[in-house]
Amino acid sequence: MRIGQGYDAHRFETGPRLVLGGVEVPHDQGLKAHSDGDVLIHALCDALLGAAGLGDIGGHFPDSDPAYAGIDSRALLRQVIERLQVEGFAPANADMTIVAQRPRLAPYIDAMRDCLAADLQIERQRVNIKATTTEGMGFTGRGEGIAAMAAVLLQEQPLE
Ligand code: MG
Repeated sequence: MRIGQGYDAHRFETGPRLVLGGVEVPHDQGLKAHSDGDVLIHALCDALLGAAGLGDIGGHFPDSDPAYAGIDSRALLRQVIERLQVEGFAPANADMTIVAQRPRLAPYIDAMRDCLAADLQIERQRVNIKATTTEGMGFTGRGEGIAAMAAVLLQEQPLE
C-alpha cells in the first residue's frame, strides 16, 4: 500500500465556468487557471502522483504548455491513472475535502463522486467528498477562492 496527499487552491474570477470534481456548479464566478480550474481534481492528481512517488501535477502537465490550456481536468486525471497503471498501481480509495465559503456544494457531491469514481475506475463507495466552509476566516472565508485537499491509498497491482 502507498499513501498520498494533495492540496490545491485557485482564485475566483468572473468569466469561467465553475467546475469541481468534473461537475459544473452554477455560480457567478469560476476559478482562474490555465486548465478548467478544477481544484478538486488537481488536489486528487497530486495525491495520486505523490503516493506513487511520481512528483506532482505541475511536473506532468506544465501550465506553460499550450496543450493544456482550458483542458478538462478529468482528461488529466485519466492520464494520471494510466501512468499509475504502467507503474503497477491502482487506487484503493480516495477521501477529499473542498474548502469554500460559497456556493453551497452539497447538491453536487454525489455527481462529483460518480465522475471521479469512473475516472479512478473504482466503486463510488471508495470515493468520498466532503465540503466545508471556514466560517468566514481566511481566503476561502472571504470568498477569494476555493481550496481542496485529497488523500488516497494505492495498492500494488500484479503486473500481467
Ligand atoms: Mg490547480
